[in-house]
Amino acid sequence: AKANGRNRFHVFNSEMAAATIARKRMKEDLSRALEEHELELYYQPLFSAQEPTLTGFEALLRWRSKSAGFVMPSEFIPLAEETGLIVAIGEWVIREACRQVGHLERQLGREFEISINLSPRQLLHDKLPQVIQEALEENCRRPSSLKMEITENILMTDSKLNQAAILRIRDLGVRIAIDDFGIGFSSLSYISRFPVDWIKIDKSFISDCANDPASLAVVRAIIAMAHSLGIHVTAEGVETSDQLSIVTNEDCDAIQGYYYSRPVPFSDLPRWIKSLAEP
Ligand code: C2E
Ligand code: CA
Ligand code: CA
Ligand code: CA
Repeated sequence: AKANGRNRFHVFNSEMAAATIARKRMKEDLSRALEEHELELYYQPLFSAQEPTLTGFEALLRWRSKSAGFVMPSEFIPLAEETGLIVAIGEWVIREACRQVGHLERQLGREFEISINLSPRQLLHDKLPQVIQEALEENCRRPSSLKMEITENILMTDSKLNQAAILRIRDLGVRIAIDDFGIGFSSLSYISRFPVDWIKIDKSFISDCANDPASLAVVRAIIAMAHSLGIHVTAEGVETSDQLSIVTNEDCDAIQGYYYSRPVPFSDLPRWIKSLAEP
């Protein structure tokens, strides 16, 4: 039994070593991903709840790695955050999204809103306001058509620093959204201290709200609280018509989810938009 135990320990160790090497390799590959043009943006449509009409898109990163294949952000964003690469990558996302959506707008003769995810590390970077400003100017975008999504936990840490950083970018006229709202512990008092325009209810509540009264209660409470503070609400992760009618009845302002569309590669967007049977 003793020998067996030692063997298991040995296997465990070499598996950990292999995982560490794989992560190190991935970090190195990721550091070249930008210059190798391996990063790409997908766009998930956002709809206003009441009409309903297409209002814009959330830009979502994908990595076509020559060595690792198609990599989802849940795998590489944490590495990019650890290494600090997220600052350069995030800068690219802002410029690329403004450029691509600007192109689409000219092509189709209509305007869209763009939602962009910001990592905490990016939010605290000194150059961020300048990067956003330049991306707006170079593409002649109205600042109010850009929404920066920040995860809820930013409300709970380094509150003063984060507050100041959010104010700096909001002063440019861009909108601020709190992402994944409801899974942390932020209360009404937290959210009212931040200059926030939108809240996105985390998709775990949306996926449960049709079957679980407690989740429905949370959704209701978030919407009531947000609206009483003058904050708009997006339901993300809406997949079924049941979920859609619940969040619409509960007076959500915007809808995002597989019910309408998965994230779409930029090159497919014109076709996807034309396929919408909009009035
Ligand atoms: P997120 O910001 O919460 O984005 C929503 C995620 O939910 C996306 O996953 C989207 O594809 C997925 N989703 C949308 N609708 C549905 C639905 O109806 N059902 C289900 N099950 N999922 C849905 P994705 O694209 O894998 O992105 C994961 C996370 O990676 C994002 O979560 C965001 O935190 C991060 N991320 C993506 N792009 C960027 C970026 O450019 N910068 C930063 N900092 N983070 C990013
Ligand atoms: Ca988001
Ligand atoms: Ca989210
Ligand atoms: Ca998330």
